[in-house]
Amino acid sequence: MTKKAGRTLTEHELGMDRAIPRRDFLNGAAMTIAAALVPHALQTGRKELDEPQNGAGYNPPIATGLRGSHPGSFEIAHSLRDGTFWKTASAPEKLAEKYDLIVVGAGISGLAAAYFYRERAGTAAKILILENHDDFGGHAKRNEFHLGGKLQLLNGGTMLIDSPTPYSEEASGLMKKLGVDAVALDKKCTDHNFYHSLGLGAGVFFDRETFGSDRLVAGAAVDDQGDSDEASTASRKQEFLARSPLSDAVRRDVLRIEHGKIDYLAGLTSAEKKDRLSRISYKEFLLKIAKVDPGVVTYYQTRTNGEWGVGIDAEPALDCWALGLPGFQGLQLEPGSAPRMSYSAAGYANGGSPRFHFPDGNASIARLLVRSLIPTAVPGNSVEDIVAAPVHYDRLDLEASPVRVRLNSTAVHVQNVGEPSAAREVQVTYASGKQVFTVRANACVLACWNMTIPYLCPELPNQQKEALHYLVKVPLVYSSVALRNWTAFQKLGVSDIFAPAAYWNYARLNWPVNIGDYRSPRSPDEPILVHLSRTPCKPGLPAREQHKAGRMELLVTPFELFERKIRDQLARALGSGGFDPSRDIEAITVNRWPHGYGYEYNPLFDPEWPDGQQPHILGRKPFGRIAIANSDSGATAYTDVAIDQAYRAANELLCA
Ligand SMILES: Cc1cc2nc3c(=O)[nH]c(=O)nc-3n(C[C@H](O)[C@H](O)[C@H](O)COP(=O)(O)OP(=O)(O)OC[C@H]3O[C@@H](n4cnc5c(N)ncnc54)[C@H](O)[C@@H]3O)c2cc1C
Repeated sequence: MTKKAGRTLTEHELGMDRAIPRRDFLNGAAMTIAAALVPHALQTGRKELDEPQNGAGYNPPIATGLRGSHPGSFEIAHSLRDGTFWKTASAPEKLAEKYDLIVVGAGISGLAAAYFYRERAGTAAKILILENHDDFGGHAKRNEFHLGGKLQLLNGGTMLIDSPTPYSEEASGLMKKLGVDAVALDKKCTDHNFYHSLGLGAGVFFDRETFGSDRLVAGAAVDDQGDSDEASTASRKQEFLARSPLSDAVRRDVLRIEHGKIDYLAGLTSAEKKDRLSRISYKEFLLKIAKVDPGVVTYYQTRTNGEWGVGIDAEPALDCWALGLPGFQGLQLEPGSAPRMSYSAAGYANGGSPRFHFPDGNASIARLLVRSLIPTAVPGNSVEDIVAAPVHYDRLDLEASPVRVRLNSTAVHVQNVGEPSAAREVQVTYASGKQVFTVRANACVLACWNMTIPYLCPELPNQQKEALHYLVKVPLVYSSVALRNWTAFQKLGVSDIFAPAAYWNYARLNWPVNIGDYRSPRSPDEPILVHLSRTPCKPGLPAREQHKAGRMELLVTPFELFERKIRDQLARALGSGGFDPSRDIEAITVNRWPHGYGYEYNPLFDPEWPDGQQPHILGRKPFGRIAIANSDSGATAYTDVAIDQAYRAANELLCA
């Protein structure tokens, strides 16, 4: 319950009883249920017209409620895992369709695998892409709202083109063929200075459960004032901290960590310091080496959540240095990566890739890929028109088209026909609603999550199955909240709100990007979308255990709880600016990703395997006519890696 002027807000005041577009799709189920009610060819065989995606008005990006891995998308896979699927499944029906390639997973890796395969095999190559969600794109999911008659977009998952390393020749080559020039687009379309020009910047929300009182403090980004003078930034920081509910000891130590120039590891060389920092967590660095007040740890605890899905208790200090966390200024570490760093930290230490955010995140890249594979499904011809282009879902799976995308279809068994080493065909069994089908192809790319593959391919060698299981994906939640205006943000001087210990670690106004006909809101009186993120980790456990525990939490959290937490936190953070959750929230979409980021090895917890023996390398070995893609196979979570893995997998099949 939210306290307002000393009073607790009721459910009614929070707006829990308000009819906004989320109950229409309560728990994300309405569209899936409606789909399940379609008489699936009346048990006489698969008829494309009966596919849910061919129903009138089928348009998943506008669905609100629980999205991401929405109800209806994962139950079949879970029953396969639990060994119950085949006990209740209907007998598979053999389809007459025959393909050159079947791809399992319509994320960016699966779509890119189809693209690369077709590029080499020719445009006549027949390709079927199966996807268990109701939309293509995988994590690159689009959230679409129409507010006051105007299109507004947010990424439900993959946020932007941004990687620790420059895109490879293959990935940047694909971007070029799709017309995506991140540098040029960013320059032309992104108004990086917009909120700043209105006097808005980063703030911190201190919650009363942790810090004793609810307080939003603006002015957290002290170095964005245009002067690079260290004394002025330090004094701004001091002034910021003075307005916080932090104790004097914590304020003093935060100031020292952010602006001090102390060499806490004096006497060691840069390489020795880096090695030392790679073996302790940032939390340990703060407590044991910088010797801060324990309250400082609380202030920084969730700084790494967005990057790795765990807090500073489970991230090496060296990786945190690479990510720009404070405290290392006096150590005089040489720039650049070092041994024993995570993939992301090592890459960012060396520079990273260009960045560009499409209004729907990298869903635009998925849409560009689908346009290139099935042009009639996504009309238009430029990277600028893709953002507002409609998708004709009923044209994704047409018999006449060489490439077909079949949604709401979970692969449950993928096997080589005959001995893997001699196989010339693959048989794929998939379930859609209550029906089960088998279909054959000359080859198959599994671009789905690696830990599902042992269940799909029980015939794989045990060592490979074990390796695939090792990769535990990182759970997280991205919510998109439509507000009728953003005057409260303006009054309080914030565009971004970090909340070190609250349910949602981060909330921000939608980034201002104008591309093609798409226009971001300019006036605080206009409706806007707000992005909130949560990483349900469990500090204190090893990283992979935190991910598993977080996933369980997400699977049992109902939409109603996410909604209440959104209303409660926004009310508490923005109430003094006039924000009223019952009046100002127009719609809510919660993108729940129990299987989110691809797992990245963590030097604190993972062994140093000999080259070639890492689980992702052992796990992605081709098996007969089956190749394995997905960003998991690159042991990290980036779009370019998903593309690189697609290229490798397609090539393995084409070269075999
Ligand atoms: C919240 C979030 C934010 C991210 N932000 C960024 C970012 O800003 N920049 C960036 O570069 N990367 C980001 N990533 C990483 C992102 O995962 C990759 O960029 C990339 O999109 C992964 O693509 P993929 O095709 O390998 O996997 P996915 O996108 O996961 O696609 C795999 C698909 O296979 C489907 N599937 C699984 N099993 C089956 C089955 N049995 N049958 C049928 N289909 C199946 C899955 O449901 C899924 O749709 C983010 C990830 C998440 C979760």
